[in-house]
Amino acid sequence: MPGMMMQSQLTLTEVMRHAQANFADSEIVSITADNPQHRYTYSEAFERSAQLAHALQKLGAAPGDRIGTLAWNDYRHFELYYATSCSGLVCHTINPRLFPEQITYIVEHAEDRWLFIDPMFVPLLEALADRLGTVRGYVILTDSDHMPDTSLPDVHCYEELLALQPTRFDWPQLDESTAAALCYTSGTTGNPKGVLYSHRAMLLHTYGVLLPDVFALQSHDAVLPVVPMFHVNAWAIPYAVPVVGAKLVLPGPRMGCGETLTRLMQREKVTIAAGVPTVWLALLKYLRENDDTIASLDRVVVGGSACPWSIMEEFEQRHGVYTHHAWGMTEMSPLGTFNPRVAGSVPAGEARSLRLKQGRAAFGVEMRIVDEQGQSLPRDGVAYGALQVRGPWVCERYYRADESALTADGWFDTGDVATIDARGYLGITDRTKDVIKSGGEWISSIELENFAMTLDGVSEAAVIGIAHEKWAERPLLLVVPKPGADLDTGAILAAFGGQVAKWWIPDDCILVGELPHTATGKISKRDLREQLADYRWPAEADV
Ligand code: ADP
Repeated sequence: MPGMMMQSQLTLTEVMRHAQANFADSEIVSITADNPQHRYTYSEAFERSAQLAHALQKLGAAPGDRIGTLAWNDYRHFELYYATSCSGLVCHTINPRLFPEQITYIVEHAEDRWLFIDPMFVPLLEALADRLGTVRGYVILTDSDHMPDTSLPDVHCYEELLALQPTRFDWPQLDESTAAALCYTSGTTGNPKGVLYSHRAMLLHTYGVLLPDVFALQSHDAVLPVVPMFHVNAWAIPYAVPVVGAKLVLPGPRMGCGETLTRLMQREKVTIAAGVPTVWLALLKYLRENDDTIASLDRVVVGGSACPWSIMEEFEQRHGVYTHHAWGMTEMSPLGTFNPRVAGSVPAGEARSLRLKQGRAAFGVEMRIVDEQGQSLPRDGVAYGALQVRGPWVCERYYRADESALTADGWFDTGDVATIDARGYLGITDRTKDVIKSGGEWISSIELENFAMTLDGVSEAAVIGIAHEKWAERPLLLVVPKPGADLDTGAILAAFGGQVAKWWIPDDCILVGELPHTATGKISKRDLREQLADYRWPAEADV
């Protein structure tokens, strides 16, 4: 028997309507390339989204067209999110840090019609424009005073496009299964793959993000996404924040800069911020070196790669900030798990190992681990296997792929290796391709890196597997010392004694000036392996 409730469609248009009706005066504050302190209200933001929707129609954009963006986190990008998705277009965010060939591939594969780009990406696009056959023109995200001279064909100025348009738009009644946004994976192996998010998935995911044991956003929060809006919709923060009417603080092009983040947090009284470990390393370093504080900050969310204990400890001890560890991926919109605040009654040692885990599945995400035959493994916190997920915001098929991305029994294989314990806490051991297999047994590079990061004078650490004559592979540790630290590699390796199984201890340690990072700020193990292709174990080199 069918239920008898209204069949409202779960679309992002409802987020916009709700925020406009209830939080018209809440603020969005941005740093942009042309304005260090832009400030306006939700009401103005959505009026401008309406103007932009009109402008897009005038440009000939038709429902389903992909509109590409190469832009930092700021209010114009926010307007683009809503103007495109809510008018039936697809907001295709493109990561400008990818290699030019990857950007060309992505734009061509997505068949983007228009590209909206920040002024600083004009030279990048000028070099590629000849090859971007589907693109009808370019819109530069600036005003007429700051329009760059450019050889790009069919160029428009964003502010001029909006200027004469009405501030109301008759938003279409979209079916909730309509595509809202498109984001390509970084493509660390093979070509990037497109994940096409539906309105329904985005809205349900937004509810998931807002849950009390997840981001727990409230109207009095000031939220700073230090995750780029060009990658997985900045973890859905631009959708979640308007639902509760909190202040949205957007850091623009200098989001990797500790000083910029500090000033922004202080000025806007930011209460919660989200980002990958690398940005927190930069922020903490700035605060430490300048003896500065971020008094309003209550919590940070750390995800994208494993969060070392040193980050959690420093945030908490020096700044009174709680760090939540989270896990997810592009194919999961991206929220998978979130580590809630551990009760004060939990003993310190236990709390620490709990917090180093990636947390519990958000309601809406189902997880399992399986062995090589696809058999489910126990949730005992010890058995580890391939992590598979399913749920309404998990990718079923990649954009323009003929085949399903799921296993025969309907699960999405994340490419991660993990444990799950009896209370549902996920522990990511490695990416499948980064696992170190020594004498038939697996060694977790993440655990080794976590320990290395607790040592004095260590700024960053990475562990990769290097071919070994006897054991097939053995772990090699790379350490970036903190400025001025005088590290001894023998002492570093000796410190592992008694902390991890003896056969897990890396066979060698190398001090390096820096580690290679991917376009999303993670340590690039692939580049590391390439850089160390000629490395030989000390004992072998002696032979
Ligand atoms: P994003 O860049 O948003 O993290 P990607 O799809 O590029 O999304 O990468 C997802 C992968 O990043 C996951 O499959 C996992 O390997 C890794 N990852 C994400 N969060 C964590 C975490 N908290 N701990 C360990 N690995 C993580």
